[in-house]
Amino acid sequence: MKIYNTLSRSIEEFVPIHPTTVGMYSCGPTVYDYQHVGHMRRYVGDDVLLRVLRANGYVVHHVMNITDVGHLVSDEDTGEDKMEKGAKKYGKDVWELAKMFEQQFTQSCKALGITLPTDLMHATDFIPEQITLIKKLEEKGFTYKIEDGIYFDTSKFPDYFKLSRQNPEELKKGARVEFVKDKKNVSDFALWKFSPTNEKRQMEWESPWGVGFPGWHIECSAMSMKALGNHFDIHTGGIDHINIHHTNEIAQSEAVTGEKFVNYWVHHNFLVVNGEKMSKSLGNFYTVQDLIKDGYDPLALRYLILQTHYRQEMNFTLDSLKAAEVALMKLRSHMGEEEHSIPNLVWMEKFMDALNDDLNTAKALAVVWEMVKDDALILGEKKATLLEMDKILGLDLDKKTTVEVPQAVVDLVSQREAFRKAGDWGASDEMRSKIQDLGWEVEDSKNGTKVTPKK
Ligand code: AMP
Ligand code: ZN
Repeated sequence: MKIYNTLSRSIEEFVPIHPTTVGMYSCGPTVYDYQHVGHMRRYVGDDVLLRVLRANGYVVHHVMNITDVGHLVSDEDTGEDKMEKGAKKYGKDVWELAKMFEQQFTQSCKALGITLPTDLMHATDFIPEQITLIKKLEEKGFTYKIEDGIYFDTSKFPDYFKLSRQNPEELKKGARVEFVKDKKNVSDFALWKFSPTNEKRQMEWESPWGVGFPGWHIECSAMSMKALGNHFDIHTGGIDHINIHHTNEIAQSEAVTGEKFVNYWVHHNFLVVNGEKMSKSLGNFYTVQDLIKDGYDPLALRYLILQTHYRQEMNFTLDSLKAAEVALMKLRSHMGEEEHSIPNLVWMEKFMDALNDDLNTAKALAVVWEMVKDDALILGEKKATLLEMDKILGLDLDKKTTVEVPQAVVDLVSQREAFRKAGDWGASDEMRSKIQDLGWEVEDSKNGTKVTPKK
């Protein structure tokens, strides 16, 4: 199996530390607001990676964190606390807020067929572990104290830029105005922040340095190493985590242990809407629950996500979602009722070859379609092969499709009906060809109009 490693900027053969088990850590959500379809793309990507590892025979210990403690809004350790801001917005206390949005996240995962991690660890449950790490960093001379907190001195860590490959001089030039005063280097980051003296925070803890809260990177080092050991196989996140969050995780972890932290760094690209990142602040977002409410099968979104390689930007439109839903329904209609046979090994090999090549899900889907069109397969073989492929695709391909004509097709059928009643045969034929473009056939009979997926 091959996977792209951000650390080497190349596709590498995957060789686990232990021959049969794989340790994998995914940076999870900050539960201060709704997780939207953009967030969920990443977790579908991680789920594919997990399922491909399992299909290759590995036992995967998958750990994810839930960030339920306030990060500051900016990467520079300044600005408002995300959780406290969210609590104000939704009129809840921070603990209720965290619970509410964690639930929304896990529900979205379930709807998208995402396997929940072996361990889901809450940052607030591991404050002592975070404090212990900071203490060790302090003992080893990597920290300094300024007015608002304890900071990591990145100039003390050799090779700080090995993951991001940034140029420190360029970074200095681009430093933002909100740069924390007294920080020694632009890239230094907070390990522990002191609570403001004039204001009571909802979340704060005692520490050897005073009452406060952890900085925004230390939790991932503390929890990943607690669950998976000092050195583990795979760490995943969004591409925006490369320059700061993951770079800082490496620095603080390796500074403490003196060992290599992670072998493979896997990063998912963004989901965009009309060229802009889907985000809460731009107001251009849908949640999985929104899509379900609008009548979509959430697995159509999963299908759509699988059509784009995880390292490419994915453009999201409702039209592409509709088309994905049509394709999914059609695929399900190929399942048939035949008795199970055994999966066809030649097709399975082609399918796995695509996935083992840096998770090429788009190619794997193309293989699925070639396979269903293969007339040489014996009775039941198609179904068995589809079921086997679905262990990775996670598209619930065995779901019965009889009533699930996509909404786009239903709309076209009723428009066609109206044209027929009005005797406008030209327009009616146009509707028929639009329906065919979506992969469906219309048949008229005495009992009304019937649509079936095109074979
Ligand atoms: P946010 O909740 O907006 O702070 O985002 C948290 C993390 O989710 C980001 O750091 C990204 O890794 C990921 N994320 C947010 N928006 C998107 C998007 N549109 N596409 C892919 N990943 C996203
Ligand atoms: Zn993280």
